[in-house]
Amino acid sequence: MTKSELKTDKIGDRAIVVGGSIAGMLAARVLANHFASVTIIETDKLPENPDVRKGVPQSVQPHILLTKGYRILEELFPGLGSQLSAAGGLTIEWAREFHHFGYGGWSASADASDIISFTCTRPLLEWAIRQRLSNFSNVQFFEKRRVTGLLSNGKRITGVCLHSISGSDQEHLPAELVVDASDRRSQAPKWLESLGFTPPSETVVDPFLGYATRRYREPNPPSWKVMLISQSPPNGTRLGYLARIEGGEWIATLGGYGRDFPPLDNEGFLDFARSLPSQKFYEAIADAEPVSPIYAHRATTNRLRHYEKVMLPEGFVCLGDAVCALCPVYGQGMTVSALSAIILRDWLNDPHSRLANGSYISSRFQNSLAKSNSLHWALATAQDSRFPTTQGRKLPGRMSKLMAWYTKRLLVKTSSDATLHILLIEVAHLLKSPLALYHPSVVLRVLRRNT
Ligand SMILES: Cc1cc2nc3c(=O)[nH]c(=O)nc-3n(C[C@H](O)[C@H](O)[C@H](O)COP(=O)(O)OP(=O)(O)OC[C@H]3O[C@@H](n4cnc5c(N)ncnc54)[C@H](O)[C@@H]3O)c2cc1C
Repeated sequence: MTKSELKTDKIGDRAIVVGGSIAGMLAARVLANHFASVTIIETDKLPENPDVRKGVPQSVQPHILLTKGYRILEELFPGLGSQLSAAGGLTIEWAREFHHFGYGGWSASADASDIISFTCTRPLLEWAIRQRLSNFSNVQFFEKRRVTGLLSNGKRITGVCLHSISGSDQEHLPAELVVDASDRRSQAPKWLESLGFTPPSETVVDPFLGYATRRYREPNPPSWKVMLISQSPPNGTRLGYLARIEGGEWIATLGGYGRDFPPLDNEGFLDFARSLPSQKFYEAIADAEPVSPIYAHRATTNRLRHYEKVMLPEGFVCLGDAVCALCPVYGQGMTVSALSAIILRDWLNDPHSRLANGSYISSRFQNSLAKSNSLHWALATAQDSRFPTTQGRKLPGRMSKLMAWYTKRLLVKTSSDATLHILLIEVAHLLKSPLALYHPSVVLRVLRRNT
């Protein structure tokens, strides 16, 4: 921690974070204000440059940074945006520079707004955060080590058991608080069960969505920074996402719901692009020079672990994708991790979170997190459930059919109404509640006949 950021309200000797990715690092940033030492345990050797790594297989895929997430990142690491710019990341004004095609039309063009974030690769963003976190003298990364279990005194979690990746060396590391941020593959439910605690139940909604992604050299800078041709449920399973990124490149992603997976060969990739409901995506990449292979990703299931419903031992909490992994199309994951860090901060600062013996009440954190996650979960699963092929979907009742009709009409209207286009972006970027879409003045705009 730099001197100016060092606070004196330390409440414990050591906190351990399992997983050194976005959720883990943001949690560590918050914990650094409260613990003398914060140890992040990470399976991978962390690259010195913005490179792809094995432990985050989705890092070759596009990562939209929502404005809400970006604002939290700036709050936790002031000046992070300048650092991203210096490394080649591009600022994006979403109202003006995001071109969206949905339900037969392109959104109306809008004036500049303050809905701003960055478009860059996922490795660049992760690297920038890691650089900033490395400046904190009380945060250490333990690389090339895998956490394989939790330690307990029967009542509370007292540390972790870890193995080095290269050999069988086993180590026990004590801590007053363990934070699991080891993503959707997290083994924490098994670790808790092996210690006699009840593991959380899970809700799973699988849209069987597959991505195929390739990078291209940018031919000419276009007027947009991000172009999206959306899926249109229940029958329009295909989508295309094209974004300008650092290094004068584009990242181009095709997606297909309900196992309509995009092909991984050049010709098939281009054919799939040509089949999208607008030709603009295909025309942009048809003659562009590819600079990467085509990478597939199919682990896109929505998975919610209900830690708020079990009696958790003190000294352990869980966040990020390990609790709430969302279908990536809505670009919420990293922002949900950022919001988790803010909830962690509030929990640590709240005197009601502590027992008389000083230990923290884990269930209070998991309850607050579950409340926050419920919105993001509802948003992703309601949209995915509109495809009949989605497994675990909630069958639409009369109300959700009405809402689907309204949402479709709203999307159609965004092609002629810039105010609605901006409002939709604000909701998608988690700056406004979805309830804003049902304000009487908005409903009137949506229902009004075009003149
Ligand atoms: C295809 C795809 C596209 C996505 N697109 C977007 C997007 O556009 N926008 C967005 O905001 N989000 C997106 N996401 C989600 C985003 O990647 C995650 O939400 C985000 O990375 C936060 O996840 P996390 O930190 O919880 O886990 P991860 O980023 O998956 O990292 C988990 C870390 O834990 C480490 N680890 C795991 N087990 C152990 C262990 N036992 N011991 C030590 N270390 C361990 C791993 O090596 C890894 O570093 C996408 C996800 C996918 C799959």
